[in-house]
This record gives sequence, C-alpha cells and structure tokens, in this order.
Amino acid sequence: TPGPSSPSPSSHGASSQSAAGSGGQPRTMPALLDQAVRLHGDRPAMHFLGRRYSYRELGALVDRAAAGFAAQGVTKGVRVGLCLPNMPAFVINYFAVLKAGGTVVNFNPLYAPRELQHQIEDSGISLMVTTDLAAIYPKVAAQLGRGSLTRLVVCPMAEMLPPLKALLFPLLKRRDLARVPSDARHISFRQLTRTAGALPPAPIDPEFDLAALQYTGGTTGLSKGAMLTHANIVANAEQIYQRLPSPRIGEERVLAVLPLFHVFGMTVAMNLAVRIAAEIILVPRFDIAGTIEVIERQKPTLFPGVPTLYTAINHALEKRPADLSSLRCCISGGAPLPGEVRRQFETLSGCRLGEGYGLSESSPVVCCNPLDGGARDGSIGQPLADTQVEIRDLDDPTRICGPHEKGELCVRGPQVMRGYWNRPEDTRAIFIEGALRTGDVGYVDEDGFYFIVDRIKDMILCSGYNVYPRVIEEALYQHPAVAEAVVIGVPDAYRGSAPKAFVVLKTPLDAPEDTLHGFLKEYLSPIEMPRQIQVCESLPKTPVGKLSKKDLLERERQSAATA
Ligand code: AMP
Repeated sequence: TPGPSSPSPSSHGASSQSAAGSGGQPRTMPALLDQAVRLHGDRPAMHFLGRRYSYRELGALVDRAAAGFAAQGVTKGVRVGLCLPNMPAFVINYFAVLKAGGTVVNFNPLYAPRELQHQIEDSGISLMVTTDLAAIYPKVAAQLGRGSLTRLVVCPMAEMLPPLKALLFPLLKRRDLARVPSDARHISFRQLTRTAGALPPAPIDPEFDLAALQYTGGTTGLSKGAMLTHANIVANAEQIYQRLPSPRIGEERVLAVLPLFHVFGMTVAMNLAVRIAAEIILVPRFDIAGTIEVIERQKPTLFPGVPTLYTAINHALEKRPADLSSLRCCISGGAPLPGEVRRQFETLSGCRLGEGYGLSESSPVVCCNPLDGGARDGSIGQPLADTQVEIRDLDDPTRICGPHEKGELCVRGPQVMRGYWNRPEDTRAIFIEGALRTGDVGYVDEDGFYFIVDRIKDMILCSGYNVYPRVIEEALYQHPAVAEAVVIGVPDAYRGSAPKAFVVLKTPLDAPEDTLHGFLKEYLSPIEMPRQIQVCESLPKTPVGKLSKKDLLERERQSAATA
C-alpha cells in the first residue's frame, strides 16, 4: 500500500507556491519565508558569529540565489545537494533551491567518501552546494563526475562573517581553508547570487512535489531517501508551532546547534523559526563551552536538542553556573530523554524541557509533551494535531492494541512521507493499511500519552525473553555517578543474546562493575541484568548527537572476530 500522502491522480494539478491553503496559510516553505519577509522584514532572521541578517536581507539573498539556481537548470524535479555546516549559506540555499522548484538533498559534511558516493548516486543530484573548509571541500570535490554530479556551488565561510572577521578569517585560518579552483565546474556564491530580482514562482503542487530527500536508516545496509513533500514539512512546522506555549511571532530566537542537515534541526530549528519569523542563532560546530556562551550572549528563547546535548549542558553547569534565563522552551527529541537528565536540566536552567518523538519519515515530529507543564515522566507525550498513532500487535500487525499493551507505533498524519526514493519494495513494507510503521515498540496510557519501550531492532532476545535495553539504560541513569549509558545485545553461548552495558562516569567509582551490578539489582530482573558493564572514557555518537549503538555493535563484532 502506498503512503497515506501519496497523491491521487486528481491531486496533480499544479498550484502556485505562493498560493495559500484553505486556512490562508502558505503551503510551501518559500511561501512561508515570503510571508515572514513581508510581515517582519526588519526583524532579525539569522545570527552567525556576530553577523545579523534581517528577514528582508535573507529574502533578497534567497531570491538572487533562486534565480542563480534557475540559470543552472534547477527546476521542478531537479535534486540539489547541500553539504554544509550550520551557516547562513545553509538557510539561503535551502530556500533558494525550493524556490526554484528543486528538491534539497541534505548531506552530512562529516560523511566518509563511501557515504557521500552512495547518496550522490542514489539521489541523482546534478549540483552540490558546499563550503571552502579544508575538512569538507576536497572530499566533496573528489566526487565531481560521480553519478550526475557535474558542478559545485562553493560558499566561502569568510563571506558569511561580519566585515572585520571576514578580513581576518582567511589569514588566521589559512590552514583550515581549501583552495577552490575557478573553472566551469565551480560556481561561487557570488556568481550564483549575481542576478537581482525574483523569479516567477515555480508551479509547485505541495501535496506531490518533493521538498527534501532525507536520507535515513543506515543501520542495516545503505541509507534510503525519505521523500518529504512541501506539504509534509510545512505541516510539521505548523503542528509544532501549535504546541508552543504562547509563541510571540517576530520575537523568538531559536538556538540552532542541532545540525540543519538532520531532519530534527531542519524542521524544529529552521522551518519552525521561519514559521514564527524568529531569529535563527546558527552555531556551526557543537562545543559545550561555546554553546553556553552563545546562550548567554544571544539569549535564545527556544532550544531544540538531543538528550546528549542536555546531558553535556548539565555537566558544564554543575561545574560552572551560567545564566540560561532567556530560555522559555526546550524540546528534546531523537532519542530517549532519561528522566534524571530532564529534572537536572530544569533545575539548573530554570526552563521546562519537553520530550518529543519523531523520525525522518515523518518530517520528523509525531508526538510531543505539553511544553508549558503537565509533561509525563518517561512519556513522549501526545500526538500532534491531525496525527493518529496506532499501537499494532507485534505478531499480528493487523490488530490494534488497547491501552498499556505493547506493540509497534504506526503513524498517520500530514507529515508522513510519500515513500522511499526509488525503492517501491521498501515503501510497500514501511506502510501497513496506510499507516507508517516506525519500528518502535511502545504503548499508550488511558489519557492518550504515549511511551516508547524500545526500537524493535534493538530488542534483545535473551533466553527466549524480550529484553529492552532502554529499561537497563534508565536504571543505570538512576545512579548518581553515571553520565551516559548504552546497552546492546551481544552473542551469548547460553542465552543466544545477552545485554552488555557501556557507561561513562561523571565521578570515579571503586570497582565500578560490581558497584553498578549491586545497584541495578534494585531495578532489574535477573534476565535483564547486563552480563558485562564496561566503563568508557566516551561513547560514540551519531552526527546529530544520539548515542550510537551501531558503532558499539560494530566494535563488539570486530573485537569478537580478532579474539
Ligand atoms: P531518525 O529518523 O534517524 O531521526 O531516527 C528516528 C528514531 O529515533 C525513532 O524511530 C526512534 O527509535 C528514535 N527516537 C526519536 N525520538 C525518540 C524519543 N523521544 N524516545 C525514544 N526514541 C526516540
């Protein structure tokens, strides 16, 4: 069955992207940006290392870049890669590609060549936008000629900085910058934005045309492109907006420390900000001291983050208090938020931290706790507006479970993708009776609050029982010396598979393994007790900052192979 938002033949009629939906709201992201420019042109749109751009400036740059992309042949259906850290060029080019009618394909600038290659070939991009940093440019340039990729747009870092920094940067950071040749395969940001004047709006059908191909799911094989339409991503920005506690249009400041190439940063830091004409405070690289300094100086009001970010902030604040009083609303997502981390962050910062839940295939947000009080501990909250979440029996997915019964979360809503790019089989498999299968096990309580137990693929089958690593992780977080904890299943001669824990300690423990085992007896059944607890200096993280089970599993496999 195709996805619920798959178009019917009658929905193909093109409509102008500035055309409003039935509620009068724009239905494409560029139309939302145009609205912010029209109504809040003088308000700040972006802040980057001391330089501010107003919505009017952003709008003008987007119009110029959109005309530049059109001159490069970008039109409806053409895919354009963005391989950029958080910097103004990300926001400008994202909106410009969409305005020209194209589809954005987000690339993580830290990808290894093999991952770049796969995503370039799979998505069929003809153009990639990148920057001149030595850590990024040469890797991307080496891919020229791969698949249909024939040209690069290069946006020099210095051009995005305030005037004095712009002068000093190329001198002080010479080693960090790459030499970019000027030939027909390279288009500079200046060349791209040379032409003034707005393009006539590309004829976009918001329900059908793709705004983004968001690659996801590299844990088992190669990653797949989730096809997100304009309607999908506009709907999700709107749904999250409706959950914000008394948002002040044109007044908020959003801390963008999550990478914008990740779906969570794209929607909750950037698109939501444009929906409410907020200032996007761009942090190009996460480092904890720098991030806290940005919060103190730039005074963001909204802060979306992943749990490891809040954990890191907690540790830093324990050592050195800081003034985070500008924050009004923090949203954690992407991975389970340990209750301890939430409580500590709320005490130290004085700001509520609400947990939400989502996945790339749903643009991403599905559920969120109330952000102004009334959050349930351990819950991912309630579904967003127009969103239905069903819990389906793990053995018989055609059966919908009742309250407190565990099953797979399946989602219907305007934010759910059309399917996977060029993968009809995978698309068929990910939908059941029109609902998106999330691969997450959870349950709902009688008040409609949802709880995630674990991912189906992380479940450990131990002596025939389902053991959920998350239960063990939550128990480990209860110990005051534990900073981070991850549990995976490792092969076990007697039990088939057994849990193994990896922890990072914030304070040293004598005989840590025995101490933690003793502590866990209070919380876990014998079958859930980890066979081994390994203390580590640090734990591997994904690009967006989630603790990475995939890397730990790989490490275990390798050490087993060499043992
Ligand atoms: P991705 O599409 O790579 O962002 O990953 C989405 C996955 O992250 C989901 O399917 C969940 O397994 C996990 N996830 C997201 N938010 C939460 C949350 N609040 N609690 C537990 N798991 C989450």
